[in-house]
Amino acid sequence: MNDFANEDALVLFSGGQDSTTCLYWAKKHFRNVYTLCFFYGQRHSLEVENAQRIAEMAQVPFQVLDAHIISQLAPNSLTDLSLEMDKEKPADSYPNTFVPGRNMLFLTCAAAIAYANNIRHLVTGVSQADYSGYPDCRDTFIRSLNVSLNLAMERQFIVHTPLMWRTKAQVWQLADELGVFDLIRTETLTCYNGIKAEGCGHCPACKLRNKGLEEYLSLKERDKG
Ligand code: ZN
Repeated sequence: MNDFANEDALVLFSGGQDSTTCLYWAKKHFRNVYTLCFFYGQRHSLEVENAQRIAEMAQVPFQVLDAHIISQLAPNSLTDLSLEMDKEKPADSYPNTFVPGRNMLFLTCAAAIAYANNIRHLVTGVSQADYSGYPDCRDTFIRSLNVSLNLAMERQFIVHTPLMWRTKAQVWQLADELGVFDLIRTETLTCYNGIKAEGCGHCPACKLRNKGLEEYLSLKERDKG
């Protein structure tokens, strides 16, 4: 992975645990790192402000892109506050936190911005291990879109997904290896209810994050002893 030390990368960045881990991963592997944050009427407007604050701490440029079109495409509980958020995945469909087409749209926008800035590497924190099983977080989709982006823009983009095969506990481990465990634990915002760090504790995002953290901490404790 040191092959790209003289190249730049654009990180799709929300200021949550995953994309902040990706940001620091990218800072380690690329020359200049840029961040792109999407604003689309998330339940908590704090997300964008918090993302900007973390980008400032990491000393990387921060750009916000308006993506409100997302809320007009299909009903989802991330942008429609009148919908109650699914706590579990329904048997025959995706939870209503799934925003159809979101990652495809976001990666396409990111590629266009990368194109304009002569950046070849895109970094996204999607993962298919241990998550809600959204189809646009899967490795096959990302690879397929990577090919399509290259064809659409006549560039050789590389979409990096450092978290693809990591469980949440392993994402915490990566943060620790990158030396930003405390920063990610205390400064990132993953909670669907807009509460930083430990969060509200009962939304799906908090449960996943906190379960992974407990798992990682107990593994670490065990290895020590
Ligand atoms: Zn929460």
